[in-house]
Amino acid sequence: MKFIDLGLDQRILDGIDAMGYETATPVQQQVMVPILEGKDIIAAAQTGTGKTAAFLLPLLHRLLTSEHTAGDINALIIVPTRELAIQIAESIEGLSYFTDVSSIAVYGGGNGSSFVTEKKALTSGVDIVVCTPGRMIAHLNMGYVKLKGLKYLVLDEADRMLDMGFNDDIAKIITYLPVQRQNLLFSATMPAKMRVLAKKILQHPIEINIAISKPPEQIIQKAFMVYEAQKVPVIIDMLSSNRYTKVIVFCSKKANVKQLASKLLHAKLAVAEIHSDLDQKSREQFLQDFRNQKTNILVATDILSRGIDIDDIDLVINFDVPNDGEDYIHRIGRTARAATSGTAFTLVGEKEQSKFAEIEELLGAPVIKGIVPDMFGPTPTYAPRANNARKFTRKR
Ligand code: AMP
Repeated sequence: MKFIDLGLDQRILDGIDAMGYETATPVQQQVMVPILEGKDIIAAAQTGTGKTAAFLLPLLHRLLTSEHTAGDINALIIVPTRELAIQIAESIEGLSYFTDVSSIAVYGGGNGSSFVTEKKALTSGVDIVVCTPGRMIAHLNMGYVKLKGLKYLVLDEADRMLDMGFNDDIAKIITYLPVQRQNLLFSATMPAKMRVLAKKILQHPIEINIAISKPPEQIIQKAFMVYEAQKVPVIIDMLSSNRYTKVIVFCSKKANVKQLASKLLHAKLAVAEIHSDLDQKSREQFLQDFRNQKTNILVATDILSRGIDIDDIDLVINFDVPNDGEDYIHRIGRTARAATSGTAFTLVGEKEQSKFAEIEELLGAPVIKGIVPDMFGPTPTYAPRANNARKFTRKR
């Protein structure tokens, strides 16, 4: 499904384009329409499935096109941790870049000056507030938070909030909200206590359950921590070993596909490229050459990660970390088809570490970290949390 088919406001479509999203992920396909229709939803969806944009996009559309209370908080997104608050605030910033929607992340652990900035925004009104429960209550207790015009409430990672003991805090925050509002609840799991919470908050919700696929067990997965400049030499080394007869290298952007394919050709490797700039005939020809082993390396965007029938691929390399956990599973699932074994390598750049950590979370286990040969020089250590700088967003 293309985002344009949903009738989203052009300014949001521009934001989606700038973020590099081309098609909607499965969770987005299922939840965006009911949210646009104003329904309450309860969705079982994990991190890495694109769930944040799944609720932000229709929310932004409704803020831009439906009744809107200026000078009040219109949407409240409650999340368990400050990391998630920052991440969501950054997604809002990106997706709403071409709009005048304002937002702020409100979370604990900062200094006095961030409290003052938050107070100012909560007093004068801001379209979207992303908050952790404790910090929001600290502000609510002071009596200046403008919530009378609130129209949308989102609870994200609700199961984690319950595990962290935020049940009473959430209930307290809700007492400050108008009764008439749209409620969206996202949770990775649906334990019985979630049903109790959902019953209290949601009205005739639509239930959505996105079962995440798991990669086949016979795939050997390895991740290599590298600096960006090391990616090309490392990949050339991997491909020059002659151990692999059919290899697909995935890149998230077609510009990267073109650049990498030309560098691999330069290194005298038998390469072809596949991306959406090629017409159907050329794509088919390249795929045919690959099937017939005229070429043994395909460099491709994610258009090749789903639904294309090529068997006996022995190695998949992710030149970059896929944006979405589903894409990772689809990409590596190109190998080890039909009960054979296969290998999947991922090159993880320094700035991609936190994205990779999200994928590991989705997989439910860490991926083995491979050792980059000494000849490539020092490599970064894997410390995904250290990449999460504290930041908040405020626009207008
Ligand atoms: P989330 O599950 O919300 O944490 O999203 C996981 C990652 O997928 C984030 O890095 C998003 O920017 C990315 N993402 C979300 N939607 C899409 C999409 N439609 N296409 C590509 N990437 C996406």
